[in-house]
Amino acid sequence: MTEGVCISCGKCCVATEMILSEQDIRLILDRTNSCKTKDEFTFINPEGLHQLKNIDGHCFFFDITSNKCKIYELRPQGCRFYPLIYDSLRKKCILDQECPYPRVLYQDFTQIKANCKSLRRFLKNQINIPL
Ligand code: SF4
Ligand code: SF4
Repeated sequence: MTEGVCISCGKCCVATEMILSEQDIRLILDRTNSCKTKDEFTFINPEGLHQLKNIDGHCFFFDITSNKCKIYELRPQGCRFYPLIYDSLRKKCILDQECPYPRVLYQDFTQIKANCKSLRRFLKNQINIPL
């Protein structure tokens, strides 16, 4: 999704609030051996959306020993866009300041703009969030 290289600090996988599309869930269930049911790694949040579960304060799929995502190649779309996120109050894409190196992943405005378009399309079409 992005061209830069994430330094894999793992900060975004701690206390994750990542929401998941049905496609994200299907892919994880069909292509990894991690889980048999979606209830093992997701829950329904107060907005009625599927969200990744945290276990011991970090994402279900985060390996604290290696500091890496156990399903990196099949990680959810939202994790691929991150640190680009959508601020629904301001109705715009922003780089999450929680990521210590947002500019490594998103180097210029053109790149942010192009990915913002894809992020908005993903949220609208796959998560059914009216933007
Ligand atoms: S996206 Fe940012 S917070 Fe997440 S692992 Fe990469 S550098 Fe760290
Ligand atoms: S699925 Fe992987 S990349 Fe996404 S929050 Fe969990 S551990 Fe991090």
